[in-house]
Amino acid sequence: MKVSFFDLRRMYFQQQVELDSAIRSVLESGQYILGQTCQAFEDNFKKYLMVDASGEVVTCNSGTDALVLSLLGSGVRAGDSVLVVSHTAIPTVSAICSVEAVPDFIDIDSKTWLMDLNLLRSAIRPQTKAIIAVHLYGNMVAVPKIKEILKKLGREDISIIEDVAQAQGATFHAHQAGTLGRFGAFSFYPTKNLGALGDGGAVFCKSREDATLIRLLHNYGKDNHQLAKVSRGINSRLDEIQAAILNTRLTLLSKWNLKKAAMMARYRQEYRGLPIEFQETTPDCCPAWHLCVIALENEAVRNQLKVFLGEHEIQTLIHYPVPTHLHAGFALKNSYFLPHTENLAKRILSLPLNPSLGEDEQEYIIKVTRSFFQ
Ligand SMILES: *Cc1c(COP(=O)(O)O)cnc(C)c1O
Repeated sequence: MKVSFFDLRRMYFQQQVELDSAIRSVLESGQYILGQTCQAFEDNFKKYLMVDASGEVVTCNSGTDALVLSLLGSGVRAGDSVLVVSHTAIPTVSAICSVEAVPDFIDIDSKTWLMDLNLLRSAIRPQTKAIIAVHLYGNMVAVPKIKEILKKLGREDISIIEDVAQAQGATFHAHQAGTLGRFGAFSFYPTKNLGALGDGGAVFCKSREDATLIRLLHNYGKDNHQLAKVSRGINSRLDEIQAAILNTRLTLLSKWNLKKAAMMARYRQEYRGLPIEFQETTPDCCPAWHLCVIALENEAVRNQLKVFLGEHEIQTLIHYPVPTHLHAGFALKNSYFLPHTENLAKRILSLPLNPSLGEDEQEYIIKVTRSFFQ
């Protein structure tokens, strides 16, 4: 049996008739940018997020742009500091660098693999303008706890941005991920929990004023009277074809997330007793697993298991092999002390987990993995 990490073609064929007709209706409408379909998706997504009337969804071109727009909306300027983890996807950090701010890295907790909030207080500096809470792999950072800490320090001016690229559908105390901070940055990259057939993203804005600003920023900075209202506008819009695709897929998101939750439970159950660690769920959080990431004893075992699975035609990936603070391209001058981050990156391996993965395929992955340890 051959198991790919994520078979996007299979996902398309499972929904082919619906997707083809959604795309055709946009083609026939003659309206390809900022039209009714995109507006409908913003309304539908807002409903999905179950938020009060004051919250607003503004779509954009990617998760990276959603982060950039959130940073601009937070008033982050050149030289400002943004608190973030190094154990994340590159775009979380490149978004900070692209507005010329400085990423200020905090180590992860060794159990939840997310920002260690016990280190937050001492990491806050006068220059700190924002915190990006990355809900990695579908597990959530306890955003209310961040708010509590900021309140105690009298630093509620610091903007909380949630990076929800990997956690669409996760909840904290029944509140949807992305609706707890000031901004929630979503990605609709094809393999994400809610994936388009191309690039896409959205910003959830808690306040109407913020939403008005983000709406200007994502469309050149111009208003309805063709006048520039802000100077830093970009072109970052979700096109109508992707919006139509997302409208059909949004109705499947809960079903897909449940399916992946069941698969994740099965992996955990079947690997009990083996020297395999899983990410610990944050208390009060109901995760929406995006990836099945396991941690092995050490780097050598991880690499051996990856090769072994590969020999059995099971594709695995590593998210992420090198912590972002060590990437040459960011040219970071500070040295950081991030022992948990550096240790975890050497031990992790991502196993196939997606809505189109067959039960027989998962069974095969489990069988082969178990045989590795025998
Ligand atoms: C995918 C991802 C992004 C970026 O999303 P794009 O739509 O690819 O720009 C940002 N942060 C995290 C954690 C991601 O996984």
